[in-house]
Amino acid sequence: YLCKMITNDTIIAIATAPGMGAIAVLRLSGNDAINQVAQVFRGKTPLEKAPGYSLHYGSIMDEGNTLDEVVLSVFRGPKSYTGENVVEISCHGSIYIQQAILQLFLKRGVRLAEPGEFSMRSFFNGKMDLSQAEAVADLIHSESAASAKIALQQMRGGFSKELASLRDQLIYFASLIELELDFAEEDVEFANREQLEELLQEIENVLIRLSSSFAIGNAIKNGIPVSIVGAPNAGKSTLLNALLQDERAIVSEIAGTTRDTIEDEIEIDGLRFRFIDTAGLRQTDDVVESIGIRKAYEKIQQAEIVLYLYDATRKAEEIEAEYLDISQKTEGKKMLVLANKSDLNPPSKPSFIRHAYHQISAAHNQGLDEVQKALVNLVKGDKNIGQEVIVTNARHYQNLHLSLQTILRVKENLAMGVTGDFLALDVREALRYLGNITGAIEIDRDILGTIFGKFCIGK
Ligand code: GDP
Repeated sequence: YLCKMITNDTIIAIATAPGMGAIAVLRLSGNDAINQVAQVFRGKTPLEKAPGYSLHYGSIMDEGNTLDEVVLSVFRGPKSYTGENVVEISCHGSIYIQQAILQLFLKRGVRLAEPGEFSMRSFFNGKMDLSQAEAVADLIHSESAASAKIALQQMRGGFSKELASLRDQLIYFASLIELELDFAEEDVEFANREQLEELLQEIENVLIRLSSSFAIGNAIKNGIPVSIVGAPNAGKSTLLNALLQDERAIVSEIAGTTRDTIEDEIEIDGLRFRFIDTAGLRQTDDVVESIGIRKAYEKIQQAEIVLYLYDATRKAEEIEAEYLDISQKTEGKKMLVLANKSDLNPPSKPSFIRHAYHQISAAHNQGLDEVQKALVNLVKGDKNIGQEVIVTNARHYQNLHLSLQTILRVKENLAMGVTGDFLALDVREALRYLGNITGAIEIDRDILGTIFGKFCIGK
């Protein structure tokens, strides 16, 4: 696969989902793609001369037999997804027809595309950078409005633009200190230290903003893990069922939904919340655990958000002890405190509670809208999803993190009066990490293979 990377032979793949459908699309790309299709296509006008962005109705012929009537979309490189000549064949979506057309081209020497090969060609032909290509895969896999928005923004180059301006700043910084080196014996300073420090601080701020967005980005992409904790009989399973109720109604109406996991997921305001380890919650009647919430602590570790639920009719001292214990164990996590059973007229909010607090009645569906809103707020904060750059990819995060570490080193060294040549060395390293993200520099072939290997065939 790797040595085939930069070829432009003609490749083909079925681009639509496997199985029967109204229409299926087969996609060919390569310098010879239009000619290859022309040889088996019978339409009104010869396909060889077809301009880019044109549609053609006709038949696909196999040795005198019509395989199907199709519509062709012709793209001429470089104005195509891959940057090469591309033909998309829209045929009738029978599995037999799709396969017959595919086999016809394979028989004629067109090669079956590897996963992600169309996007990889697009990258090599400079149609998009690496982070954009990865966003294509993310967009295809996105399962919620928020993750689709973020992927779309990244695909359109939002993230690339931020990175480009970071790189420009770093290059500017490097050039300032390198210029000084050229005039070392004349003892001039082109950049005063304050200016350099300021510039460095700006760069650091952007790197911190981008890398810290990964916590949210990752959660949005994979669903935000939420765990409901609280003593037995607090109403945890009642709450879970109440939250999932609407969702189930929706899900069960989608014919043929086979995903079990969706049972424990809700989408609010475009965000997907995933309740983790809820299997136990569903059957709380079994055993009253001797050590009330020990098990819950294990769950907390994987959670991004903790919903701490307590029975508000219990004694305040008991609640306080439990609350303090849980707060301690959930340090660093986002937490909502929910006082349940408000229908039984419990006392109002205890003064010791420091977290966001809501009074609810899980059994009577009271206050649940507020809980949902609070969940969304905890995730989004003041972030404007779809506008701001949010990092969702672990590889990007890793490189941003490394770049930040290097910049912090530069900052330290600058303060200690380390000479420009050493500073420049580190700045170059930071630049290299950023380059890894967009593919602006030579990237390890293995890494590319891994990235594109995760794509669907036909993309
Ligand atoms: P879990 O052990 O935390 O999962 O608690 P359950 O969800 O099994 O609820 C324990 C008991 O509290 C059940 O009898 C519920 O019907 C009851 N319960 C749950 N929520 C409420 C509520 O809002 N008001 C009242 N009055 N009872 C509730």
